[in-house]
Amino acid sequence: MQRDPGPACIALGANLGDAPATLRWAMQRLGALPGTRLLRSSRLYRTAPVDAAGPDFINAVVLLETCSTAPDLLAQLLALEQLAGRERPYRNAPRTLDLDLLLFGDARIDSPALTVPHPRMAARAFVLVPLAEVLPQAVPARALAAVGDQRITPLAEPG
Ligand code: ADP
Ligand code: MG
Repeated sequence: MQRDPGPACIALGANLGDAPATLRWAMQRLGALPGTRLLRSSRLYRTAPVDAAGPDFINAVVLLETCSTAPDLLAQLLALEQLAGRERPYRNAPRTLDLDLLLFGDARIDSPALTVPHPRMAARAFVLVPLAEVLPQAVPARALAAVGDQRITPLAEPG
């Protein structure tokens, strides 16, 4: 029997427009990608910008089961960002939607267009806290403790 390498983990973030609505839309679209199933979604969180400009962010993490390759999945993520009106006027600019591939099972990828595991995930509460909610084994307690000073609060569920 083949060993299950584990799910693909996607970080979602937005701080322009109706960010909670955009994230809920993106979660649905991710689950509707060809050959892909949404396994789990974290709550939405409000977070302070880290190395970035503009208003607070809304962040979340989802787990996907997919037949796609990692480069194909990245292309689908970038296409969804475009559908949501993503523009890149400068580095770390406010964004309508950011979709980052955090983990692709246990794969390690280091190509010009794609690095997995995502190189900056360990330093970011807005990634680690929602990731710990949906895939606790991926987040050691000491990693969570190391980002404990970063502001992050769950959003109230819609009425
Ligand atoms: P950031 O997410 O760091 O703010 P962008 O969303 O503008 O930056 O992404 C810039 C590029 O980063 C993407 O076009 C993509 O090719 C590259 N990239 C490399 N590794 C990853 C990854 N694991 N997930 C998403 N994008 C990645
Ligand atoms: Mg990105």
